[in-house]
Amino acid sequence: MLIALLPGDGIGPEVTAQARAVLEAVAPGLVFEEAAVGGAAYHAEGHPLPPTTLDLARRADAILFGAVGDPSCDGLERRLRPEQAILGLRRELGLFANLRPARTFAGLEDASALRPEVAGAIDLLIVRELNGDVYFGEKGRRATADGRREGYDIMSYDEDEVARIARTGFEAAAKRRGRLCSVDKANVLETSQLWRDVVTEVAADYPHVTLEHLYVDNAAMQLVRAPGQFDVIVTGNLFGDILSDQASMCVGSIGLLPSASLDSAGKGLYEPIHGSAPDIAGQGKANPLAAILSAAMMLRHSLAMPAEADRIEAAVAATLAGGARTADLGGALSTDEMGAGVLAAL
Ligand code: NAD
Repeated sequence: MLIALLPGDGIGPEVTAQARAVLEAVAPGLVFEEAAVGGAAYHAEGHPLPPTTLDLARRADAILFGAVGDPSCDGLERRLRPEQAILGLRRELGLFANLRPARTFAGLEDASALRPEVAGAIDLLIVRELNGDVYFGEKGRRATADGRREGYDIMSYDEDEVARIARTGFEAAAKRRGRLCSVDKANVLETSQLWRDVVTEVAADYPHVTLEHLYVDNAAMQLVRAPGQFDVIVTGNLFGDILSDQASMCVGSIGLLPSASLDSAGKGLYEPIHGSAPDIAGQGKANPLAAILSAAMMLRHSLAMPAEADRIEAAVAATLAGGARTADLGGALSTDEMGAGVLAAL
């Protein structure tokens, strides 16, 4: 199986190198082909997502992505900025479902901003729709009747888009603890009322999953009050963007959180949720665990290798339980040392 390795910028190459080493240890048959993306690709080839990189991403069975973002590109026009690469990949590959698990590893309860007993209960998955919502609707600036400036962004979802992501949510819940929470703002937004209607209709196909609905304001509150109540949360692009960052902070460090972005056939792009962290790039300080856990998600969701995924996740948990800590977790281990710790625990 072919893995497209797109390390990107900043700490991206440092953390993906560790993830690759772990993958090579548990799944020796994988073939890796590397290509530039983001600022690195702009500097080498004049575009953040060159055709050769996109071609590799299309040919591959799965994509392991580091991070993009390069301060030296800040002055470029928007279409050439590094961040456009990830948006382009999502669009071109039809990656509509973003999966972000958040769980607190034993021993790390104190790293959370929440009380340890609250943080310790977190084991949830956010399923966020990626291709629709207010981000992709008509947008612009116009003048009001009295000549004042006005900005607008149209929010919409059609029923097929909602049903597709709802199924992803129900299926994920069926494989976990069987509880799905759909988050919307149906008390105010018509888009959300349709969302709620369609999710409720789809529920008929999943009788073993318990469905509840929450308004997004309440969901944000519950995520810090009692995050342990959640199993799988399914929500739209805008609400998912905000709630998934909130959930990630509840478990401690951004350096621990993996993600998957999947198409309708299960092909996916796997990346840590953090960015290129220019403030620590090149210093060997980055925590590689988010990238390593992203590699585990890749084995589970795109490569049908769940046992190998379990091995990696268990090795990460054992490494942390043994006290291994990079700087973001209050320790002194380097990126390489943390990676070596996981390899040793495998
Ligand atoms: P960031 O996630 O890069 O960094 C935020 C903070 O977290 C920094 O202090 C950083 O040092 C720390 N951090 C991040 N990952 C870490 C890790 N693995 N180990 C230890 N500490 C870690 O977010 P930012 O600073 O807002 O953005 C930097 C660049 O990354 C920007 O150009 C932004 O656009 C880009 N970005 C890219 C992605 C992506 O590639 N998907 C996502 C977010 C941000």
